[in-house]
Parts: sequence; structure tokens; C-alpha cells
Amino acid sequence: MAFDIEKIRADFPILKRTVNTYPLVYLDNAATSQKPQQVIDSIVGYYSNYNANIHRGVHSLSQEATDAYEMARQKIQKHFNAAHAHEIIFTPGTTHGINLIANGFSSLLKKGDEIIVSALEHHSNIVPWQMLCEKTGAQLKVIPMNEEGTLVMSAYKELLSERTKLVFVNHISNALGTINPIEEIIQLAHEVNAAVLIDGAQSCSHIKPDLQELDVDFYVTSAHKMCGPTGIGMLYLKEEWGKKLPPYQGGGEMIAEVTFEKTTYAEMPHKFEAGTPNISGGIAFGAAIDYLNTIGFKAIEAHENALLNYATEALLAIEGLKIYGTGTAKTSVISFNIEGVHPYDMGTILDKLGIAVRTGHHCAQPIMEFYKIPGTVRASFAFYNTLEEVDRLVAGVKKAKMMLS
Ligand code: PMP
Repeated sequence: MAFDIEKIRADFPILKRTVNTYPLVYLDNAATSQKPQQVIDSIVGYYSNYNANIHRGVHSLSQEATDAYEMARQKIQKHFNAAHAHEIIFTPGTTHGINLIANGFSSLLKKGDEIIVSALEHHSNIVPWQMLCEKTGAQLKVIPMNEEGTLVMSAYKELLSERTKLVFVNHISNALGTINPIEEIIQLAHEVNAAVLIDGAQSCSHIKPDLQELDVDFYVTSAHKMCGPTGIGMLYLKEEWGKKLPPYQGGGEMIAEVTFEKTTYAEMPHKFEAGTPNISGGIAFGAAIDYLNTIGFKAIEAHENALLNYATEALLAIEGLKIYGTGTAKTSVISFNIEGVHPYDMGTILDKLGIAVRTGHHCAQPIMEFYKIPGTVRASFAFYNTLEEVDRLVAGVKKAKMMLS
């Protein structure tokens, strides 16, 4: 399909609204994406037409709901190219998926083991692992970053050893937009027999990964970053890990047989899906994937790169403006500050002009600590943004600068 930005924008009802009397310019896509009508309709369709609990129901509504939910799992499997649908676990989101794996490793790690994180992570890919280290006595090592906001791969190679059991990094940093070299990170980790978890929360809306080609052990993401609803996401875990790791939560759906003496667990994916799931969310996640693939990831990437380059050039022309994250492997995020202007004040003035950006540490305090700043202003783009919206942002930043400095 040709990339028709007006047609695409027409799919998103929220893009028609005004904020503070101005047409909305939504540049907070790294926090969450907007939802097209097709995704909204899939949620309304489920509740209006076939709302029922799934699995084991003999009645028609339950079977329709089960079919739609399992069809969504298959769409996700196909999109991410997992070998099996049962390797796709529905979760409430990225954070839950990471906690599930961290919990699973608590029975596999011991004192003396090491696990490796990167300096570019969201708190949700730091804190669960710190908790795991507290429980097991394993040690957390950090791949450092440089001034450009890029990982120092030579330091990573030095950190790896036979003590390394697990490496977890994001594909794209939500705070800076840096694309990490995950292919190399995975390959090097596997050379010392360490498993790898990739946090795809920030990349899944920009890049379609091939999980089998990556040969990654675990991959997590959230549907709300890719035009789907909140409260649903997925964890991919390779079949061998699905067998090895214990369940995260106990309850209905995840069992084979229960007696008071002993309970046996269901096979994956159900082993990791205790309780009634977010059924409409799962179905809508599938609809979101269909929607993105109709536009096509090549077209999305080309448009977003054009927005990023155009905005970078225009913002850098503003005196006193500094962009954080200046490496060449980068997508869709511009994190910046203006000398003498607090990011919160900048964000507040931009909001008065109808422009939504995020300000603060973006749940990545170690990155802010590295640059010795309290936070940044972050403009993050999606395929439905336009060059005219970038112009509005640049004009807004200039106006705020004048008012504040
Ligand atoms: N990792 C990254 C890189 C993220 O950008 C986010 C969301 N900002 C998360 C993890 C956490 O995702 P969620 O809050 O949807 O669980």
C-alpha cells in the first residue's frame, strides 16, 4: 500500500481533537501510541457480540471468543516469527514479562553467578533483576554507555564470562532512541552459554524482529506501544525455556490436575497464563498487528526516519539546544534540553500550544545521572505524525525558549 498519511491519520479518531484550542500534536508515542478505529472496533466488537470467558466453554460464544483470542496469538507468532504459537505468552505487558522471567530464574541462579544489564535501560528492565540478585546472591553487571548514548561493546565483551547466566537489554532505548546492536549482543552472550532477554517495548512499533533469526531466548513487549490497548503484551520464550522455568502465578487455567496432595501444571502457554486473561486486549493486540502490517514496516521506518532527520536538523538550529543520544543507530526519539530552561517548564508551555511531549527522567534515571541532568524534553514520533507537526513543535520550542530564558 502507498504511504498515504492523510488516510492513515483518518484512522485515528483522537488526532481530530483539539487541546487548549489548538489541533493536537501528539509527540508522546514512546510513552504510548494512539489507537486506530480498527483496534477500537475490535474491542467494541468483542464486548458487543461474543463476550464470554475462553477455553473449555462448550457454548458458542465461548468458542468464538476462544477462537478469536487464539487467532490473535497466532498473528503475534507470525508477526514476530516465533517457531510455535505456544511460545507466545499473553501478559499484561513488558514489565510483567520481565518479572515473570526474573522470578523463574530465582531457582536457577546462585551466589557467584552474574547477570548483565545495559546502562540504557528502562527501570522495568533494572529493578526486577536487582530483586532477583537480592534473592539469589547473583551479581548485576552493567554495560556502560558513552557520551553519544551508545553502548560500549568492548566493555560488554570484557564483562562476559562463564559466570554470566543471563543478559537483558532493550532493542531501542525509550529515553534516547538508540538502537542497540542486539544481534551481536545475543551472539556474544550465547558464546558463553548465557541466555538473553530482549525488551522490545520501544522497538516493536518501528522494527519487525525475526525472533528465530535473532535466536533470542526471551522477548517481551507491550501492545500499547504498537497501536494496541494497555494491559496486554506478550512474552516470547523458547520452548526449551518454557519447559525449564516454573510458573509465575498459580490459579485457574494454568493447571493440568489439582488435588490437595499435588498439582500438575498445564503445558505452555497456559502454564504461564493463570486466571481469566485480558480477552478483549489479546484480540485487539492481534488487530493492531494486522493494522501495522497493512501499512508495512518498511514504509513506517522510512516515514519515521524522515521525521527524525527533519526534526533533528530544525531543533539543532535553535541556539542553546542540546540533543541527548546522538549515535547514528537511532529512531523516532529526540531527547533534548535548552540551556537554562527546565524540561518541565518547556513541556508545560508546549502543552498550552496543543503539543504533547514528555518531560522528566523517562523511567531511566541512570541515563539522566550519566548526563548529570534532572531530565529531558522528549519528542517521540509515530508513522501518523507529519512534517507540519514537527514545524509546530519547533515553533513551540522557540516560543517557550523566548518566554523562559
Ligand atoms: N521498557 C521500555 C524500553 C519501555 O519503553 C517501557 C515503557 N515505557 C517499558 C519497558 C515498560 O513497559 P510497560 O510499562 O508497558 O510494562
